[in-house]
Amino acid sequence: MRVFKFGGASVKDAAGIRNVYDVLQQVGYEDVLVVVSAMGKTTNALEDVIKNYFDKSPELNSSVQEVKKYHNQILLDLFEDETNEVFTAANTHFNDLEYFLAHNKSPNYNFVYDQIVSYGEIISTTILSHFMNFKGIKTEWVDIRNYIKTDSTYRDAEVDWELTQKNIAGNFKRNILNITQGFLGSDENNFTTTLGREGSDYTAAILAYCLGAESVTIWKDVPGVMNADPRYFENASLLNHISYREAIELAFYGASVIHPKTLQPLQKKEIPLYVKSFINPLLKGTAVAKGQDLEPYLPCFIVKRNQLLISLSSIDFSFIMEENISEIFGLFHQFRLKVNLIQNSAISFSVCVEDKFGNFNDCNAILSKKFKVDFTENVTLYTIRHFNEQAAQTVEDNKTVLLKQISKETMQIVTKEN
Ligand code: ADP
Ligand code: ASP
Ligand code: MG
Repeated sequence: MRVFKFGGASVKDAAGIRNVYDVLQQVGYEDVLVVVSAMGKTTNALEDVIKNYFDKSPELNSSVQEVKKYHNQILLDLFEDETNEVFTAANTHFNDLEYFLAHNKSPNYNFVYDQIVSYGEIISTTILSHFMNFKGIKTEWVDIRNYIKTDSTYRDAEVDWELTQKNIAGNFKRNILNITQGFLGSDENNFTTTLGREGSDYTAAILAYCLGAESVTIWKDVPGVMNADPRYFENASLLNHISYREAIELAFYGASVIHPKTLQPLQKKEIPLYVKSFINPLLKGTAVAKGQDLEPYLPCFIVKRNQLLISLSSIDFSFIMEENISEIFGLFHQFRLKVNLIQNSAISFSVCVEDKFGNFNDCNAILSKKFKVDFTENVTLYTIRHFNEQAAQTVEDNKTVLLKQISKETMQIVTKEN
């Protein structure tokens, strides 16, 4: 079986959905499982709904209507004939969403988040599956929540591999195009969970691992994995073949073209990952596979914006030692601040972190009791794999460098835009 993943950008409008059909026609859909994300920016739009819901904002209803309108427009464009049963199917999901908003009693933000945001994937797969049927490709719509089981860490759920493996083994039909949701799972009480933003690549890898798939292809709006994000770097070049190790490093440092959790399950079973263009599906793209990197290394640039540079020093000039460091990390873990760079000296300790869940103020309140805390918001972390002087210069030009760290293969630079 081959596993294909189509992300939000590939299904952002009716043309995108038609393009998925064209891609499948060109590369074949025999024994294929398709994993799909929410359409376009739907997850962000549903995050607005969640915010309005908790703020008790008068905008709540209009934010829901906006999501409905966006999908309805796509439906009208794709099917024209409003008697197609996809209209009823999509409406049922929207009614369920509205029912949840009207009746939910849980004050747990993360729980509510997952119950709401999941409609993005439920609806996108419903639309894609009906469209394939409409075009004559028979599909099976699979509710992935019946297969991928997780703990109850809503918004960042941990997969229960054993249960998931057991649910999947032998239970997918092989003679039909299976279409399912990325990003979602469910916990032991069958409540919906999500695997973290951008988690659909990871879903494809989980399924490939459990199915023993022959390959995973993630279809992107870029030709493959490049040595830099082409949105920010002119002259980015395609990397044709890379090893799992190199891909894991790039994804870990934040090359957002592959979700960092995707590679480990694939590497374990040596399942190749192809990153290809959904615009030119017959081009080779990037192959991530076992073995050595075949080509000479190009410097690879990775940018993480909106980081927080925190500098902690002891109040009484005492050293910052293991016990303080472990306490600091304990707090970062507790407040889910993701540490992207660490540097320490005798009496100070600097970290560049990402505060995805908006917890820094609470964490700082505790840290400040023990340390002198300085921080700079909105800094950018550049990572250059296989760096050279010229590459570093490109990054540093016209910026204030706040911190720089060099190891054998990697240079990291924290900057503040001038
Ligand atoms: P999806 O639609 O699957 O969610 P994403 O938008 O998450 O796709 O990923 C594709 C985007 O990743 C590209 O549009 C590109 O801007 C960005 N990107 C970041 N780093 C790289 C890189 N090294 N190579 C290619 N694309 C990259
Ligand atoms: N729809 C989810 C998100 O936007 C998951 C994904 O696209 O991978 O984060
Ligand atoms: Mg994405």
